[in-house]
Amino acid sequence: MSGKSYASLEQHQCVVCGCTYDTGAVLLHNRLAKTLEQYTLTGRGLCPEHQKLFDKGYVALVEVDPELSCFGPDGNLTAKTAHCTGTIVHILREVFNRIFTPPSRRRTARLHRAGCHRFTEGALRS
Ligand SMILES: [Zn+2]
Repeated sequence: MSGKSYASLEQHQCVVCGCTYDTGAVLLHNRLAKTLEQYTLTGRGLCPEHQKLFDKGYVALVEVDPELSCFGPDGNLTAKTAHCTGTIVHILREVFNRIFTPPSRRRTARLHRAGCHRFTEGALRS
């Protein structure tokens, strides 16, 4: 299919691997104007492969490059502004909980370029 249409296949982008995948929904222009591309990216989620791993109890650790990522004014990094390096590690949630101390809400809000690095190191239990 080429050109514009009044219908489009909805896709999401995986927050773990960055691939786009079909959600199974079809989007229709509310006035049936032929303005839509074949695919429309509407959000983020987990692709089928990473959803399966999540459902099996795995946590995905996604490496980001803080120098190439864009931090918000509040110092937070979002999936949309993170520059992922492509390195991904999956570990069982129970192992993750034994290794990492969950950050407090206040600490999470203060994550910034240097803080993000400290969080990684400081969260490790000795
Ligand atoms: Zn994925």
